[in-house]
Parts: sequence; structure tokens; C-alpha cells
Amino acid sequence: MIRQTFLSLTTQTYPAGTEHQVVELFPDLNYNLQIDTVGNYYVQVGNDSSCMFTSHLDTASTFQGPVVHRFCETLICTDEQSILGADCKAGVTLMLHMIQQGVKGLYYFFFAEEVGCIGSLKLAKAHLKNPLAHLQNISKVISFDRRGTGSVITHQSGQRGCSDRFATALVGELNSKGPFNYQTDPTGICTDSLSFFSIFPECTNLSVGYYNEHLKTEYQDMDHLEKLGETVLKVDWESL
Ligand SMILES: [Zn+2]
Repeated sequence: MIRQTFLSLTTQTYPAGTEHQVVELFPDLNYNLQIDTVGNYYVQVGNDSSCMFTSHLDTASTFQGPVVHRFCETLICTDEQSILGADCKAGVTLMLHMIQQGVKGLYYFFFAEEVGCIGSLKLAKAHLKNPLAHLQNISKVISFDRRGTGSVITHQSGQRGCSDRFATALVGELNSKGPFNYQTDPTGICTDSLSFFSIFPECTNLSVGYYNEHLKTEYQDMDHLEKLGETVLKVDWESL
């Protein structure tokens, strides 16, 4: 399902403003997709999870156009006439897989990340103004939006987002339950979990196997994404 979902979500580029088109492509799973008060989409699996998982629906493209896939062993790229959009459809794919497999969590699909984390900042602002019931149990925000195959991000834009204890525990879970070599990495820049640094104690971002994001040479390591798909089902997210 991971490969098929990824391919179906990357047949076009989806600049900010076209996020609803991506949601229409979601496989017909047995879940309740909801829209929050500021326009982000979310799915709740169980209702007392401490984890918010995040990805974003928009791609870093100023126009909407077709994507022509090229395949090279386990890598997927484009004909270099467009970006691929693995940033962040790799994360979206992973979250749809976790939802389908019933992993407990609050799954957030944000809009307009690529133009300044607009969707997540709006949610954070709304929650600070008037605490939202569906966020009341959250203590961890885990974004699936980092390049490469080995980062558990501890800092974004020079600010600390999670404790070393949390990051090390997550590294241990990933590397013991999957064939990986994740390490803590303080060189994060900016994704939606950054919007929650002052609200929730543990905010991170994980590598999902894409490279050269925002460029026409972007590519996805599908082998990594598929193995990560198996591993995230075994990680004990609640006890981290
Ligand atoms: Zn991204």
C-alpha cells in the first residue's frame, strides 16, 4: 500500500491552496477525516493519545502541473521537469498507513507549510487563545518531514524542540525495531512541529527518505519508506 499510495499522491504538484485535491485522493479507509476551525485536516485514532503526528499537504511548487515518475531501483524521481513532492507526500503516505493499521494518535495534515507553516501556526494560535479539546492530551509532536534516512531532529532554526532523553529514546526504538541508523540531529530548519515548541514539551521531525527537496532533482528512497512503514507500527509511541 505504501508504494501505491505514494505514487497516487505524487502524480501532480500541489501548491498551497490546492490541499483539498490531495485529501480527495486519500484511500478509502475506515476513518473519520475532520477539518479543524482554521482549515487543517485531521484524523483521531483512539481519543487519549499523547502523540500528534504531522505532515503537510502542499508541495514547494508555485504552479500546479503533472509529475512524470522515473524509477531507478528502489528510488523514485521525476523527469526533472517538475519537483516530485516526496516532501511531504512521504510523510502523508506514512500517516495514512499508520491510520489504516490502527496506530493510536492524532494525525494532522497541515495546509500551506511550504509558505511559512501557516496551517500549523494558525492551529497553535487558536489553541493558545482557547485550548482545543482534541489537543488536550498531546505532549509530543512528531513530524514526518525530514530529508535523508537518519535524523531525529532535536532543534529547528537553532531552538531546542525536544529533550535529549526523548530523542535518544526514539532513536533507540527506531534502530532496535527497524534496520536503521537514526541519530539525534540538531540541524533542523523548519517544519510544522516548530509551531508547537512553546506549547508541547517534545517536538521533533523524522527522516522519511527523501532528498533534494524543493528541486526538480528531488527523489524518494522507497526502500526506506517501506521499512519505516513496518517499523512505525512497532514503536511504542505512547511511552516515549
Ligand atoms: Zn516539507
